[in-house]
Amino acid sequence: MSSLNEIFGDGHNAYFSNGPIARLSFLRLQHAQLDKALTSRTAKILTFDELNPLRGSDGRLAFLKYEDVSDSIGRPYEKDEKARIADFDPSAHHPTLIFLGLDLTSSGDRFGEHSGVPYFALDISGGHYEALRSSVTAQGLKYAPTRVDLTLPHEQSAIYSHARSLLDWNARNRFCSSCGGRTMSTHGGAKVVCPPADNGVPRKRACPTRVGLHNHQFPRTDPTVVIAPISADAKRILLGRGKRWPENYFSCLSGFVEPGESLETATRREAYEETGVKIDRVQLHSSQPWPYPSTMLIGAMGQCVEGGEDITYPETELEEAKWFELAEVEHALNEGANPMWEPPIKGYVGPRVPPSQLMAHQLLRGVLKLFRK
Ligand SMILES: [Zn+2]
Repeated sequence: MSSLNEIFGDGHNAYFSNGPIARLSFLRLQHAQLDKALTSRTAKILTFDELNPLRGSDGRLAFLKYEDVSDSIGRPYEKDEKARIADFDPSAHHPTLIFLGLDLTSSGDRFGEHSGVPYFALDISGGHYEALRSSVTAQGLKYAPTRVDLTLPHEQSAIYSHARSLLDWNARNRFCSSCGGRTMSTHGGAKVVCPPADNGVPRKRACPTRVGLHNHQFPRTDPTVVIAPISADAKRILLGRGKRWPENYFSCLSGFVEPGESLETATRREAYEETGVKIDRVQLHSSQPWPYPSTMLIGAMGQCVEGGEDITYPETELEEAKWFELAEVEHALNEGANPMWEPPIKGYVGPRVPPSQLMAHQLLRGVLKLFRK
């Protein structure tokens, strides 16, 4: 085997990622280009109500045009950011609007150096958008609750993931975490600032975020390791079952990376804390954004030290953990992989495992590529 593709397979298949949109982050600073993009005839706006996206009867995402939302949001990018910050009125309605980027593969207008179809996301939660909500539902579209959705076409899953995480982050950061003042969303929704004045009247409280380089907040991404412990002889994989999971449903271990930890250290710590196994060498496999609300899943395989495979459960997070032979895991991935909230696949009686859209599935496939002879 001489290539990474041969060893690990295609690395471009993470669900919720690798979509058609080029983010072109420099356009976020160009208010005239953003205004032109938003009001363009080709612009596609994905609206969310309480973080649920608008969908058609076929279940696919349904996009609106600027004319559908113009009465509700006006022209938010008409003025430059300096003027918007200077005029900031904390009691006015400020639409939570995200510039997602341009689909450069579709023909559209020119924005600066690039041509393509602009994509935006808009949060219509709350009372300001009643008219818009009625008009879209009258067209047979709906905002259906989608706590975890794995049914979108791949390219739409990436748009949804990007939009949902940023809208959620904006919604959680309406007030400054340093001084408590009302914040303002800027840079096409990718940054919030704490304005120095309300309606031209300077705020009384000095805000540390307005000093030096700390004058802003950027969206966060929380790293989480998804772990496939491998036995020292590389013949078995450890899988765990959470306390509220269905009977016989197993997956990789996982846990948040803590400050001051490398991904490898976190992998060893989590594997030990959840099951008691002792991991030596860790190899990162691939990653996947997870928009609930803004996690980065990092797949890591870790091989146990000789004799480190005993399961002792130092903490009580798991219902059970078990070692499985590689052939058994392969059979489960091929025959018994589906979401845990769905019934088991008919006729399949082995251990159930996550479907291909999930990091854990791809990580287990990676382990098999390496060790299943
Ligand atoms: Zn502040």
